[in-house]
Amino acid sequence: MIRVGVLGATGKVGSEVCRAVHADPAMELVAGISRSKAGEKAADALGVEGSGVVLAETLDSFLDASVEVAVDFTTAAFAPEHVEWAIEHGTHIVVGTTGFEVDDAWRHADVGVFIAPNFAIGAALMQRFAREAARYLPAVEIVELHHDGKADAPSGTASATADAVAATRPEAWSGPSSESVTGVRGGERAGIRIHSIRLPGLVAHQEVIFGGQGQTLSIRHDSTDRTSFVPGVMMAIRWVPNHPGLTVGLEAILGD
Ligand code: NAP
Repeated sequence: MIRVGVLGATGKVGSEVCRAVHADPAMELVAGISRSKAGEKAADALGVEGSGVVLAETLDSFLDASVEVAVDFTTAAFAPEHVEWAIEHGTHIVVGTTGFEVDDAWRHADVGVFIAPNFAIGAALMQRFAREAARYLPAVEIVELHHDGKADAPSGTASATADAVAATRPEAWSGPSSESVTGVRGGERAGIRIHSIRLPGLVAHQEVIFGGQGQTLSIRHDSTDRTSFVPGVMMAIRWVPNHPGLTVGLEAILGD
């Protein structure tokens, strides 16, 4: 049984992770942090029937509950602190929070630190296919679309895709830059244009559009429900205890 503690336990994604962990026979939800619902029973707050967990405000509760793997779906301002805490206290950590810079020093951690900007397995495959396409079609732009509550732009997935595509394509391509409305051609990362759309009704979507002579290729992934992230998180929880140091991206787990 893997003893799991969730930071952001009552958040949109964290609560789904809590329910999945509770339902998994090989895992046990032993702690959860929620500042807004601290003191409430997880059974009531999250509908995890039969769980004895009481939601807490601080990470001390993870030590009391002997958490083996911490899962973080909080905010960019705090996630790095949570990783530092986990490294210091010998707790493996799986991080889904986006929008912060990864510290290179985490590579030398004795515990497993697994960070993925997108836990949807389809999104990892989208990146893999995009890298492959970029070898032959270097002209590419990325359109990412998310719900209007998303704090960061571009999305972590779009940034990671741009980096991966830039590293793979044989030559740079940036297209025309002239614009009569500022920003209408999008922002640029690793020499690749990214267009970020934020609207109510969306969840998490991305299209990588390649252009070539007389043809285009679109690779698109849609998360239509927040539970799309859960299978990837569960894979990471099982994987991280055996992989010390820093690993970034679900692709590392999926293998070839
Ligand atoms: P959310 O619903 O706002 O949940 C975030 C939770 O974090 C809140 O419930 C909040 O609860 C808690 N929190 C905030 N500051 C905290 C702190 N200092 N310590 C402990 N808990 C804290 O947001 P969400 O949609 O679940 O997303 C959370 C993060 O995951 C975002 O960065 C988002 O971009 C990212 N995300 C990643 C993926 C992926 O696949 N990697 C998928 C979706 C979302 P309290 O205020 O009650 O503590």
